Amino acid sequence: MRMSFFFTAALVAAALFCGGEALADAEGGWHTAQYGDLTVTALSDSTGSMPYTLFFDISSGDFAELAKAGGAPSGSEVPSWINAFLVKKGEQLFLVDTGMGAGPGIAPLISAAGYSPEQVTHVLVTHFHGDHIGGLLDKDGKPAFPNAELFAPRRDEEYFIPQSGPGVNGTELAKKVTDPYRAAGKYQSFEPGAQIAPGVMSSSLWGHTPGHSGFAFESSRGPFLCWGDIVHAYLIQFARPEVTLSYDVDRPGAAATRRKVFNEAADGRWLVAGAHLPFPAMGQVLRKNGGFAWSPYQSPAADAPAPPADGAPAPPADDSPAPAAPSE
Ligand SMILES: [Zn+2]
Repeated sequence: MRMSFFFTAALVAAALFCGGEALADAEGGWHTAQYGDLTVTALSDSTGSMPYTLFFDISSGDFAELAKAGGAPSGSEVPSWINAFLVKKGEQLFLVDTGMGAGPGIAPLISAAGYSPEQVTHVLVTHFHGDHIGGLLDKDGKPAFPNAELFAPRRDEEYFIPQSGPGVNGTELAKKVTDPYRAAGKYQSFEPGAQIAPGVMSSSLWGHTPGHSGFAFESSRGPFLCWGDIVHAYLIQFARPEVTLSYDVDRPGAAATRRKVFNEAADGRWLVAGAHLPFPAMGQVLRKNGGFAWSPYQSPAADAPAPPADGAPAPPADDSPAPAAPSE
């Protein structure tokens, strides 16, 4: 199954990365940053490694060189992360992706960050792979975010949820975890580019999956894009955007979309967040040596206490230069 690596990785991640940096455990697995009027909290679901054998469009020698240059302990695998993001915009609390749902999942992290799962108003899933939708239900099989409306890309719904007979196009997980939201009247599928809420747009980033989508949030500092799986292996794919993975449903499409988004994000100096970037997984795309590079976001509010549970906005504490407007 497509995400079996991640299920394995979640179990053995600690063993694989015990010699590396403190990754998922930084700040107890959550990290809040202020970006203009948005309060963004990264949630670390789990960490793991990705072996060279998952990758296409790169030689083992080039892979090893990039991995080692980035500090990976071995040239045959690179680290990866599974993150979800809470975005507080006005009175609304958006959760982008839900992790794998293995072990305690992200609910304790949401609580530790000063919110509750019941406060989430919108759950937005970038696509229907298990490391993004696995946390939609609680241990009793009920919606883990009972007051939220779930938004999912229609093209992934069509691809992943069998319309007739079991197993068409792969996983039945997508149906299992979305059905309780449907039954509660809290499920909506959206078309590419559809508005989710005022100031929150979906953006088609197809290729990794047919409906793979980003979510662009307007803020007083400029655009913030949660881009899902545009990058799985940051040590490899910023330098070499053409590198794809066996998880990509349409590998040339995934590579083309990655390069397009890199260019747009670099030109627009967008703040971006990625499901598999190094926690806390927020930053900017820079141009470097004909390719691209990742620059983690340094939020002046990074050390501020968690937002209060009553939902009062955190004070703006961000005085670094605002980014340019989107290049469109
Ligand atoms: Zn993923």
